Amino acid sequence: MTDKPLPQPTPRTQPFWDALKAHRVDIQQCDDCQHWIFFPRLHCPRCFSHSLTWKTVSGEGELLTYLNTTLVSLEEDEIQVGMRVRPVFDDIVPGETTLLRYTAKR
Ligand SMILES: [Zn+2]
Repeated sequence: MTDKPLPQPTPRTQPFWDALKAHRVDIQQCDDCQHWIFFPRLHCPRCFSHSLTWKTVSGEGELLTYLNTTLVSLEEDEIQVGMRVRPVFDDIVPGETTLLRYTAKR
């Protein structure tokens, strides 16, 4: 459990939170220009299309900065910009709320 406020899903963000509960990372993709969209929105920020589809992605990536996520199972001196990371699904309220964390991809 955490002392931080828990996310409050809205109709727009519910698919993202439901995917995390199933230990998947789902984000929106624009059907017209194929732009990947995160955070969930009503329209594509590139071409303004309202035709968006939720798709499952690996969630893996590269650490670009030290903001906007929580890194787990790492010592401070292991964290490097440019390191490969993978998702960790933190079931803080099992069956109800799962948060997306990241750790090193080894
Ligand atoms: Zn678009």
